[in-house]
Amino acid sequence: MHHARSHVAGQWYESAGITRQPILEPATGQAIGEVDLIDAAGLDAALASAACGFEVWRRKTGYERAALMREAVAILRSRKDEIARLMTLEQGKPLADAAGEIATSADNIEWMAEEATRAYGRLLVPRTPGVSQAVRREPIGPVAAFCPWNFPALTPARKIAGALAAGCSLILKPSEETPLTAAEVVRAFIDAGLPAHVLNLVYGAPRQVSEHLIGSDVIRKISFTGSTAVGKQLLGLAAQGVKRATMELGGHAPVLVFDDVDPVQAAKQAVAAKFRNAGQVCTSPTRFYVQEGIYAKFVDAFAEAAGALRVGSGLAAGTQMGPLANERRVEAMAALARDTRAEGARLVCGGERPAGAGYFFPPTVFADVQDSARIMNDEPFGPIVPIASFSTTEEALQRANRLPYGLAAYAMTRSLSRAAAASDGLEAGMVCINHFTVSTPSSPFGGVKDSGYGSEGGMEGLDAYLVTKSVTQRSAGADLEP
Ligand code: NAD
Repeated sequence: MHHARSHVAGQWYESAGITRQPILEPATGQAIGEVDLIDAAGLDAALASAACGFEVWRRKTGYERAALMREAVAILRSRKDEIARLMTLEQGKPLADAAGEIATSADNIEWMAEEATRAYGRLLVPRTPGVSQAVRREPIGPVAAFCPWNFPALTPARKIAGALAAGCSLILKPSEETPLTAAEVVRAFIDAGLPAHVLNLVYGAPRQVSEHLIGSDVIRKISFTGSTAVGKQLLGLAAQGVKRATMELGGHAPVLVFDDVDPVQAAKQAVAAKFRNAGQVCTSPTRFYVQEGIYAKFVDAFAEAAGALRVGSGLAAGTQMGPLANERRVEAMAALARDTRAEGARLVCGGERPAGAGYFFPPTVFADVQDSARIMNDEPFGPIVPIASFSTTEEALQRANRLPYGLAAYAMTRSLSRAAAASDGLEAGMVCINHFTVSTPSSPFGGVKDSGYGSEGGMEGLDAYLVTKSVTQRSAGADLEP
């Protein structure tokens, strides 16, 4: 049985105040271990540790921080296969995807290690002789970072990388549903020799932890990835302490498929993207608007490719889609499928929870879905997808932009003018045309509108952990000399 514990002030945390929660394997629904939930004394110890860690880490040069981060990258890469297995066990995604996530996490940390040496300020042209003016970039302070269960390595890795590169200490709270993977990411930094106190890891009751940490004067910045509803609660807490926040919240990404593409090829490409991680991806392509001329062919090809996906345990060879991460998601999918049918859409694939153990739900596709249907408005966050037809570019853009979300948006076309119309007109933090790889370590990852604000990754991901200080100095003149 596995056992996940918090890591506070350089030690794996033990206390009589700890309670325990089972860690469930999504493919079977069985417990594979337990996670310790920290008590209030542990959270206070983590805060004191982060305050102390900030004083140590801020004094390191960018080159020293980068060297340590690269060491952690090498360790992560060397442990890729064993960590991937843990991830599949506790989260459900196919083993190859889990290994890919570890590799991407390492790439993100490595890229941000390079940025650690480039936190440039600037010198201004002075208006007064003998007075210099400089703009400095300094680490913001101890960070509280909250992560979800869908990318149990990548989300912690992005937050740790940005904070450490900038010179911040942090307290990381991963999801208690996928604690084993995050602990391995943290362990890579510990084993790389990160000074004690710089990176603290806590698992606990989410509301209690976030209120305790965000309410503390020690924390100067919060970073959260999760639902818009929880993000709004955390922003309320942050506002009371005037704390900076990066919010990676929900999305409901539109995909505009224009009639100049091959509908069969486009559908195959879209199916691979949509059902990655069983659709539990905030940037997942989730609302398909297909131009009338190719609509019927696209729906048929999409349903055929979705129906052919091999669903099973992520540990089994050949599995293309694993179970959902928890029972809540399966219930949410069953309810959404029921509602979509009742709202008059045409089911063309899947739709019913299979018998047997585990949190499985099949790839499910609905055609002829009205914009008023719940599935066209609520983020599905699972393997269920609505398709509708459109006539003109203007209409497609208007329908794509009608939701409060604005994380990712996609378009498929061979036409330069349609591609330009999509990249100009789509209201989203990330627009992806003719492919679905929406982010890389060097690109800013983030949304607009209710999908949040701020970015992770790219130079913006470093900026998120820096504050600006303007320093002006007069060289000592005759009047200042003794
Ligand atoms: P949820 O809203 O209860 O939780 C989402 C995440 O936030 C979880 O990791 C949870 O531990 C954490 N959380 C919840 N309350 C918190 C609090 N008060 N303080 C700190 N963290 C808190 O929902 P859920 O059932 O776990 O997930 C379902 C929904 O969450 C999905 O529909 C999706 O919209 C959203 N989600 C988004 C992402 C993302 O990458 N943006 C990831 C996971 C879940």
